[in-house]
Formats: sequence, structure tokens, C-alpha cells
Amino acid sequence: MTLTTDPQALIAQGMDGVNTQLKENGFLLTTVEDVVNWARAGSLWPMTFGLACCAVEMMHSAAARYDLDRFGTMFRPSPRQSDLMIIAGTLTNKMAPALRRLYEQMPEPRYVLSMGSCANGGGYYHHSYAVVRGADRIVPVDIYVPGCPPTAEALVYGILQLQRKIKRLPVFGEAGRRTEQPQYAYAPGEARPYSALEMHID
Ligand code: SF4
Repeated sequence: MTLTTDPQALIAQGMDGVNTQLKENGFLLTTVEDVVNWARAGSLWPMTFGLACCAVEMMHSAAARYDLDRFGTMFRPSPRQSDLMIIAGTLTNKMAPALRRLYEQMPEPRYVLSMGSCANGGGYYHHSYAVVRGADRIVPVDIYVPGCPPTAEALVYGILQLQRKIKRLPVFGEAGRRTEQPQYAYAPGEARPYSALEMHID
């Protein structure tokens, strides 16, 4: 059995390959970055936070049939214990500053999954005076799950895609710092419904 530090090669060899390497050599070679990302991807803790009907599908994904726990994804009751924000539902202008504050209360590294048409781009309420036309105006979004509502399976798939993304992210140094900011992409002349002070931006 050839020694490899490449996690993809290890995965390709499967558990048989891992077992054989451990049996023959007594150790496995990999990188700290891969181990950290493996741990991060396998212990995503979303905040218990739903905005509208999409949240029912989110609850469904955590219940017995789809059982998100098996992916290490367990809902937490506080943003300070969470590293994943699932924006499940319609994000209104009134809620936007609170959502931003909750995001900022989450420790790094933190990730955002936008669930459903409303969170992705305003959905049915795109032309409403009261709804944010995309959660990426308020927080940086990592993964978008389409649908109205997306099924529980779609959300599970989105979380698996987020895990794949996390496994490719750098961990150390300047590159490991997540500095993305929302684009605040407003149409020319479009009024911002909240102040910079409310949104904690300069
Ligand atoms: S995308 Fe559809 S199901 Fe989800 S919050 Fe909006 S209206 Fe409700």
C-alpha cells in the first residue's frame, strides 16, 4: 500500500485503504489543514432561527426522516454557539438589522446558507416595499438553495455542498481569514431602509 497525504486519494481507497495503511504502518499521513477542515465540515452547528414557511422544511430536515444529526449538524439555541446561519424564509427590512446583529454574534469561522426564493432574491415579494431582495445584501452568503420552499432533501444537499466547500477553504494565515462583506447591491436611486448605524457598517 502506497503512503499518501492526499485526502482525495485516501477517500478513493476507502476504509479498506485506511485500514490497510494503519495496519501496515501504524499511522496515517495528512495535513493539519485537512484535519481542521474535516472537523469543521463534520460539526456544523446551525442557529435555531427560522423566518417564514421555509423554516418548516428546515425543521423537517432535522427530524427523524432526514436526521441532520448524522452529518454532525445539530441546531444550537444561541448565535454564540453556532457556525452556520440558515436563512430560512422571507427576510423583511424590519428584520434585516436583527439578522445582521445575530450574524455578527456568531464566532468565526461562520457560514451562511440562504434557503428558498425569498432569502435568495425576495421571491414572491421581490417588488414589495417591505422585503429585502436577497439576503446577500445583509450578510455574505456561501450557499444558495433554490425552491419555494426547497424540500428538506434540497436543504440536506445544500449542507453537503457547504461541507465540500469548507473542505477546500484555506485555514491558516491571511488567506484563512474570512473577510467577505455583503455587496449592498442597490439599484440606482433605491432607498436603503436601514441606516449604516443599524447595520454596523461604516
Ligand atoms: S421561498 Fe416560499 S416557502 Fe420559503 S419563505 Fe418564501 S414563500 Fe415561504
